[in-house]
Amino acid sequence: MKNIRNYGVETKCVHAGLKETAEGAVVTPIYQTSTFKFNDADHGARLFKGEEEGYIYTRMRNPTVEAMEDAVAILEGGAKALGCASGMAAVHTLFAATLDAGDHIISSESCYGATATLLANVMPRFGITTTFVDTSDIEAVKKAIQPNTKMIYAETPGNPTMVMSDLAEISAIAKSIGAKCAVDNTFMSPILQKPFELGADYIIHSMTKYLNGHADVVAGIIVLKDEKDYPNFRKTLNHLGGTIDPFNSFLVHRGLKTLKLRVMQQQENAVKVADFLNNHHKIEWVRYPGLPSHPQYNLVKKQMSGTGSMIAFELKGGIEAGKILMNNIEIFGLAVSLGGVESLIQHPASMTHAGMSPEARKQAQITDGLVRISVGIENVDDLITALSNGLDKIK
Ligand SMILES: *Cc1c(COP(=O)(O)O)cnc(C)c1O
Repeated sequence: MKNIRNYGVETKCVHAGLKETAEGAVVTPIYQTSTFKFNDADHGARLFKGEEEGYIYTRMRNPTVEAMEDAVAILEGGAKALGCASGMAAVHTLFAATLDAGDHIISSESCYGATATLLANVMPRFGITTTFVDTSDIEAVKKAIQPNTKMIYAETPGNPTMVMSDLAEISAIAKSIGAKCAVDNTFMSPILQKPFELGADYIIHSMTKYLNGHADVVAGIIVLKDEKDYPNFRKTLNHLGGTIDPFNSFLVHRGLKTLKLRVMQQQENAVKVADFLNNHHKIEWVRYPGLPSHPQYNLVKKQMSGTGSMIAFELKGGIEAGKILMNNIEIFGLAVSLGGVESLIQHPASMTHAGMSPEARKQAQITDGLVRISVGIENVDDLITALSNGLDKIK
């Protein structure tokens, strides 16, 4: 489709990236092949020298992968995108493509656990250090600047605290010191937050979450604002090897068609669920960007076009209350991950973070009664009834 970038987001979701085929396929087929034949030796030579466009080997380039990458680049308003085997492969490739030994990163302290571990424990072995700060506090970001700061890495809203960071201010700080601003946009998706319009240079997503949206794929993507960055990123990803495969690309591309519908319905449900939780006597507090009680409610209006479907709340009864809710709730799956059409619930203190000492949990802001839910597209009254019945079991 010509000029797809001029169309509305719903049209982009359905049509962006699709390739014309000789057979007239309506959907880009799955090119489930590891390698591509050359016509003759000279053709192979021209492809390898880059004198001619074409496909060589699927780790380097594949039509099904390319179609999905184009779709996500168009949805984010970026120049190019690179599909990765997981969100973490995207995060790692981003750092490897842009940073050298001796460089320094400023990162949101409230970020995805594996990202924090990669930055704190793995990257320092390659000479790249990170200062974790509360990126919702602009003064704290400025204070963390070092002469070798080359990247500010922001995740907003942050996980699991739902703390939000002002992307326009952060990218302006990055620009002023000659550093790049990278944003993990997983929680919002391109439907609700557009980091490039706020000055970011790079966006990453765990496509495992909203972009695929059906809890049947692990995948990630890097989106570039500037086409000039593309050859270096492509080479780095090709050499690190964390590329996505054609079948998963196909599934993600299929999921993208309903991205807007899913995200809006999940959000509509989440607003009602958050309101129910906010008025429940067994709940201490609810953290959801759509509630006026969110400490940064003003930032929602400034940089987001919606409030998403991730909700955190604190049960009054601590760990025991959390276990009772987990063991008595219907519909909601007890599982990590988020962003799918099915609602999920998680109690970090008794599940994902049960192995940590109470002190370490406190340090990580994992309170005993903290529960996180990802709201799906089920009937919202059914979801509220399920939560209500589960909460009733807590004495
Ligand atoms: C899940 C997630 C990741 C990691 O993605 P994977 O696909 O699991 O590797 C990174 N950032 C955020 C915000 C996530 O939710």
